[in-house]
Amino acid sequence: MALDGKTAIVTGGASGIGFAIAERFVRERIKVILADVDVAGGEKTIETLKRLGEASFVKTDVSKRLDVHNLLAAANDLYGDIDILVNNAGVVHGADFLDVEEADFDRVLAINLKGAFLTGQAVARFMVEKVKNGGSAGAIVNMSSVNAVFGLPNQVPYSISKGGMNQLTKVMAISLAPYGIRVNAIGPGSINTAMLASVNNDPEARRRILSRTPMGRVGETSEIASIAAFLASDDASYITGQTIYADGGRLPLNYTVA
Ligand code: NAD
Repeated sequence: MALDGKTAIVTGGASGIGFAIAERFVRERIKVILADVDVAGGEKTIETLKRLGEASFVKTDVSKRLDVHNLLAAANDLYGDIDILVNNAGVVHGADFLDVEEADFDRVLAINLKGAFLTGQAVARFMVEKVKNGGSAGAIVNMSSVNAVFGLPNQVPYSISKGGMNQLTKVMAISLAPYGIRVNAIGPGSINTAMLASVNNDPEARRRILSRTPMGRVGETSEIASIAAFLASDDASYITGQTIYADGGRLPLNYTVA
């Protein structure tokens, strides 16, 4: 995939999908910077990654502009370059529409959507300067969700944040295309991580998930990591502005909630 020697920032890389992406990237000999608000998780993850290749952890709350600024400075100090950004950090909040509290709405939007905007803009500014100075163009991958399309009524701010993520992906793709910088998104269905467990930790919920997934199983984090590696690589050199859904057939086959 010609990813060897590139430098990537993966936000929310301390666990779950972000960790799987970071691990896949390190195996592809990409130098990875994990940016996560979870220091204990991040440091543990980095130990694993360092056994496989080059990786560093920078404590970052993506919803805070100053943290994002410091992340960029750290990336510059560590590797002097950024070729790839994966905007993966995210949180979910389960509540029905009538019960959603303003503070929860603000928190989810600040992390999932504003965080991707702040980090995406900061990295894009770096990438544009690099192109103007004769350097190679980079690639940005945003983590969306099938919920961007479904809009689940018990995950209100989350679904809104992911709908916004698809639009953010489009406007970034159009804005950055003249520089050759590509921006795409991944829309996972139900993937086997702590986030899934926190929302659906009972057998009935699991049955519901499987009943609306034609392939009859939840996805694995490695199955999302392989899409991120493809989108970040030159193999995807003419793809920009797209959201690729990996959901076991749920969206294309239009399965309804049982
Ligand atoms: P996860 O909870 O395992 O990982 C999320 C990571 O984000 C954690 O390491 C957490 O510490 C980090 N994070 C939270 N707030 C942060 C902040 N303010 N700044 C930086 N990092 C922060 O969840 P996951 O399932 O791996 O989810 C990763 C992404 O994939 C999310 O954007 C999520 O919405 C998306 N997604 C997950 C699923 C699924 O079924 N698991 C489905 C669709 C989309």
